[in-house]
Amino acid sequence: MLRNLPGRGWCTLALAGLLLAVSLPGFGADEEPVAVERLIDRAERLDTTASWQETRETLERVAERLGEASDEQRVRFRLLEARNRALAGEYREGLEVLTRLEPLELLPRHELRSLELCANLAMQISEYLEAFRCLNAAMSMQAEVDDPELQAGVFGLAAYWHSQLGDPDKGLRYGRRTLELARRTGSLREECVAHEKLGQAYELSGRLDSAIEIYRDGLPRCRESGDVLYTGVVQILLGRVLHRKGELQAAERWLQQGIEATRQSGFQDGVLDGQVNYGSLLFDLGRAEEAEDMLLSVVDEARSRDRWESLTGSYKILAEIAARRGDTRAAYDRLVRHLEVRENMLNIERARLIAFHEVEFDTLAREQQIELLEEQARISELEAVNRKQRRQLVWVTYTIAGFLLVVLALLLLHATRERRHYRRLSTLDSLTGLRNHTSFFSEGEGLLNECRALDRPATLILCDIDYFKQINDSHGHHAGDRVLVRLASRLRESFGEEALAGRIGGEEFAVMLAGADIDAAGDRVEALRRNIEQARSDDNPIVFTLSFGLAERREGESFTSLRERADRALYRAKSAGRDRIVAER
Ligand code: GH3
Ligand code: MG
Ligand code: MG
Repeated sequence: MLRNLPGRGWCTLALAGLLLAVSLPGFGADEEPVAVERLIDRAERLDTTASWQETRETLERVAERLGEASDEQRVRFRLLEARNRALAGEYREGLEVLTRLEPLELLPRHELRSLELCANLAMQISEYLEAFRCLNAAMSMQAEVDDPELQAGVFGLAAYWHSQLGDPDKGLRYGRRTLELARRTGSLREECVAHEKLGQAYELSGRLDSAIEIYRDGLPRCRESGDVLYTGVVQILLGRVLHRKGELQAAERWLQQGIEATRQSGFQDGVLDGQVNYGSLLFDLGRAEEAEDMLLSVVDEARSRDRWESLTGSYKILAEIAARRGDTRAAYDRLVRHLEVRENMLNIERARLIAFHEVEFDTLAREQQIELLEEQARISELEAVNRKQRRQLVWVTYTIAGFLLVVLALLLLHATRERRHYRRLSTLDSLTGLRNHTSFFSEGEGLLNECRALDRPATLILCDIDYFKQINDSHGHHAGDRVLVRLASRLRESFGEEALAGRIGGEEFAVMLAGADIDAAGDRVEALRRNIEQARSDDNPIVFTLSFGLAERREGESFTSLRERADRALYRAKSAGRDRIVAER
């Protein structure tokens, strides 16, 4: 009867495949220090074709000259170094090498490679959360790097872990995608790797025939590509699945070849897994002693290297071998060991599952968070638009309000000016510009009151053009108007702007002189009369004379009384023959 193979051993075999170097092209060797560039190129080549020890020698030489290296060269060096550590089983050191990439500016392809390595290395030291986070990050950025080789690497890794952790459908889907991408690279080695991925995905979903077919397809590609390590891994996988199918002879051949090849490549953990499988096969072939020898050596080695998967598988078969032999004591001891290690393994598996789901959950939560953030961004964008529109509205409102305010102010100003203008016009005589009747008498009364309050003299002068009717009759009404205008300006000249002057009737004028008694006023009127007389002699076409009536304010006298007295004086001047001044004392 066939036993199930120790499933945990797959992890190591997977690692071998996953660590397959993705060749990183050089960066313009012309500008870079030639020696370092050439060394790194060499290391990249060796990385896929020689043992890790050989590659390490070259890497050590690069390390000595790292001072000359450019940033890109350093990145390539660190990536090679990390993978080299992984192949040597120095997983933690490999992860540390990757952390030294952090301060450097990484190209997307290098970043992706670094994430892929991180996922592998972290898995090996049971840092599952870190491993799945790196894997997830790699999956989310793989589309950014248009490089089927790198993408195939990431998909291969995802295929393996999804198959392992309970999502075989997803595992298979990713496995097929890995093969598609590998075919696009045109590289035999990539195709070899992809076959291994897809084969395992089939195997883990229980489709052994498909797995065998894929491994058989892949092997010639692995061999032709010259990758010894990988050839060995696929041979071991093929041997293992053939063993499960009961094809023991074929299984032995492949396992032997596989162990030899992995040993040659220096991949010690791969050798251990091959040997566990081979031990199991030998036992099924009835060669218990050979099986026991092999598995005992595996146990020593696996213990020293903390390879729990190899240990638990080995102890289980060793216990059965001892039991078959009748050595119950040894069988019991080995079974106890098996259970102890298995317990440990189960814990590891649990931790792995929890981490896997945690990261899956994290991813879901992050996606939701991103959606939420996008929603918030949309909302704040709308708010910004809204705010902008509101600001524009406020601006428009203020502008309109401001405009209306200016218009209103202008209208108000205009109206005030108009009012002032009309008010002024209403107080003035339109022909002469002197005060009109109403305005003169109301202002005159105010002036009289002022003089009374200040105890100053004031004299009211009335004057009337003599025989004006005749002027109109003989020269026309317009000529008469001109006479009126001329007289008004004479009055202004004679009495100045400070005197209150008005046209109080058709050809009747009045002047109120504040601060002048009747004598002073009489003198000024006489000067005016003479002035007009003078004008008469200057060949003026229209000649006229004036009659004046003067009255000085008396103590306590009203304006009406003052005016009556001035009127009387004027009347007397007329009666006395006109062209004269009569002062009412
Ligand atoms: P007197 O010496 O007695 O004052 O004789 P008079 O002709 O000046 O007096 P009267 O009162 O008889 O005539 C006044 C004239 O003044 C009558 C009118 O035609 C004229 N008059 C009144 N207002 C105006 C005016 O605005 N323009 C003109 N051109 N004539 C006016
Ligand atoms: Mg008159
Ligand atoms: Mg007159």
